[in-house]
Amino acid sequence: MRTVCVVGASLAGLLTARALRNQGFAGRIVVVGEEPHRPYDRPPLSKDFLKGVIGEADLALEAEGEEPDIEWRLGVAATGLDAPARRITLADGTTLAADGIVIATGAAARRLPGTGGLAGVHTLRTLDDARALRADLEHARRLVVIGGGFIGAEVAATARELGRDVTLVESGPAPLAGVLGAEMARTLAGLHEGRGVRLITGAQVTEVTGVGRADGVRLTGGAHLPADVVVAGIGATPCTGWLAGSGVALGDGVLCGGVLCDEGGGTSAPGIVAVGDCAAWYDPVLGRHHRVEHWTGARQRATVAAATLLSGGTARPEPPRPPYFWSDQYDVKLQFIGHAGDADTVTVEEGDPAAHSFLAVYRQGERPVAVLGVNQVRLFTRWRRHLETAPAHTG
Ligand code: FAD
Repeated sequence: MRTVCVVGASLAGLLTARALRNQGFAGRIVVVGEEPHRPYDRPPLSKDFLKGVIGEADLALEAEGEEPDIEWRLGVAATGLDAPARRITLADGTTLAADGIVIATGAAARRLPGTGGLAGVHTLRTLDDARALRADLEHARRLVVIGGGFIGAEVAATARELGRDVTLVESGPAPLAGVLGAEMARTLAGLHEGRGVRLITGAQVTEVTGVGRADGVRLTGGAHLPADVVVAGIGATPCTGWLAGSGVALGDGVLCGGVLCDEGGGTSAPGIVAVGDCAAWYDPVLGRHHRVEHWTGARQRATVAAATLLSGGTARPEPPRPPYFWSDQYDVKLQFIGHAGDADTVTVEEGDPAAHSFLAVYRQGERPVAVLGVNQVRLFTRWRRHLETAPAHTG
């Protein structure tokens, strides 16, 4: 293998390139990225960067002088792939031939239909999105956030800390109900309300109003919420459009959409692996493909994907770890590991939910399948280790 091309110049792409070097690959590595920027960290975009506490230089994922020898092709998207020939077509009309390919194109924020021409309507996925939102929030008084997932909940918290008047509209019973389950999510809803966020749950947005610039959001039933800025935090879809007709198998559905991979990141095409938010790895414990949109997942799997590629396309599975993520909202650190959907009970085992400091264990029968920690870093770390090392994600 003389040339490896990594498509996607972000967390998963950079870490896989690094892992290739660490595992002895001395050939040419070309990294193609649609964004013009060198790899940067996304989690602070909705937190300290949006708050203005840190700047762009603080987001860099590369340490000075440390980077492996990489050829960067930035500001140009891959538009097509011929998998059997391992040839990538780029938006500037050029092609790149490689012996091995890493697909690391991540996910893109879903946009609200019909808002394309309206100023003041934002999504948050990229540095450019964060710059635009930060600038717009400077002059805004009222913010409406549509969607109470992580991005929506974090943007609401940050904007509230910046002193904005914030309304959070969520179609489910509480923010984060999709991942934490309704019971724990309801417990945490008080976190936002206690800080002065107006929380509207079980509500659907029918339109963003305004001419030229958004001036509010209308809900089913006709209620109108005035807004200077609107943020849509309505999920993300894997960036796999450029793989259509490539010969690489793709899944569908929210959780297993993306590039279908075996337990080691190998795709249906020899010499091509996929990693990060765009990849749905097979999870033998769940018995299905599963796409994880979390920072830690991208980090853990880069090493395995590099090993798979260098071993000639044979997967080298490691025991799968349950998905882990964290979220920072106000002065609260929320950590979660496992699959809440597998649980039939959830019990608070430590602390006090009303004080926003507690640990809850989700169980299927007697078996712990997920753990939520809220400002309980030390105890959560013990539980995390337990879930990660227990056979087949069990307790
Ligand atoms: P991405 O970071 O999405 O990178 C993919 C790259 O590929 C992008 O630069 C994209 O432009 C590029 N690309 C796409 N298509 C093409 C193409 N056709 N050709 C070339 N390049 C292409 N996770 C947590 O666990 N905790 C958090 O607190 C947390 N906070 C977050 C906050 C925000 C605002 C966001 C957006 C994400 C957050 N995440 C968090 C998730 C985490 O950042 C992602 O899981 C991680 O960035 C995934 O890395 P990735 O490299 O797979 O994909």
